[in-house]
Amino acid sequence: MQAPTTQAVIDLCISQGFAIAGVASATRSAHDDKLWQWLEDEKQGEMEWMNRNVDVRLDPRNLVENAKSVICIADRYGILEEDDNSHNSGKVARYAQGKDYHKVMKKRLHAICDTFKQQYPNEIFRSCVDTAPLLEREFAQKAGIGSVGKHTLVIEQGIGSWLLLGAIVTTVEIQPSAPSAPDPCSTCTRCIDACPTDAITPWEVDARKCISYLTIEHRTAIDLAFYEGIGHWIFGCDICQEVCPHNQPNERSAHSVIHEAYAPVVKSLDVLDVLHWDEEARMHHFRGSSMKRAKLNMIRRNAVIVAGNILAEIDNPELLAKIKEIASSPSEDPLVSNAAKVVLKKKN
Ligand code: SF4
Ligand code: SF4
Repeated sequence: MQAPTTQAVIDLCISQGFAIAGVASATRSAHDDKLWQWLEDEKQGEMEWMNRNVDVRLDPRNLVENAKSVICIADRYGILEEDDNSHNSGKVARYAQGKDYHKVMKKRLHAICDTFKQQYPNEIFRSCVDTAPLLEREFAQKAGIGSVGKHTLVIEQGIGSWLLLGAIVTTVEIQPSAPSAPDPCSTCTRCIDACPTDAITPWEVDARKCISYLTIEHRTAIDLAFYEGIGHWIFGCDICQEVCPHNQPNERSAHSVIHEAYAPVVKSLDVLDVLHWDEEARMHHFRGSSMKRAKLNMIRRNAVIVAGNILAEIDNPELLAKIKEIASSPSEDPLVSNAAKVVLKKKN
């Protein structure tokens, strides 16, 4: 049976509510050495899973035998808007403010795979959202979704980088889309200059220094050197995207579709509340959210650090009392109580 046209594939993806779609050939990464070096330098921090299946990650044909094409899609999840700067608020990265993107995207990718499977029953269609080892950003660039910026995120020049990426690896050979231009940045260095923990060098992020990694993936104690930089971020960080000129509102971004599932449910978390949470409260607040990636002791550790930064700005006796209680409680999780001790030591 004849392969679908690229436009037919794109139309099917758009009909499922994706903002952008394109097709790339399923070929080996051109950045083999760079990934190996990054891993060798241990810039992945505690993300042990990144050390596994590297050869699969570098070549989708190791993920799906005889893969010929990678259908790339992107959901747009946000726009630049005012933060919630209310009393005690811990900031949440925009992508995590709405429903869990894994579920939102998987459901529609499966629907696309089902449609194709009816037409091509002997072919393979494997959907990927974060969970499969695939260099989604590189394929997105090849498929014309957007260009990778110096902060390593994909930027669609016109609607920006508030994008979540997914893909379908298939054995069907589909004509590739035109790739995006390689460099959306030129001489700009705004994200590098604004990053509070100096995590960015052009086209590389040292995860060990990145607030997104530290607050979401890093399960052990956070180095004191990053406490101040974490500022009010309790889950993730958007600073490098907020300052990017491509993310400033414009005519096109105002009209580009944002899937309704990403409408903010939790824009921020009250740090004093979080410091009182038990597992039941965490489950209640994170139900249906990608924030459940942060375990109870991690989100409370983050809340302690943010509380320390709030206390450096304003007097808040209630918050200070809670930090003291956590620091001195023998039944407290050591990850949280040690962070509280560091905050108190820093304050005195
Ligand atoms: S997410 Fe925040 S900490 Fe990480 S690279 Fe961007 S600005 Fe830096
Ligand atoms: S802020 Fe500037 S350097 Fe950073 S990704 Fe955006 S355009 Fe590129």
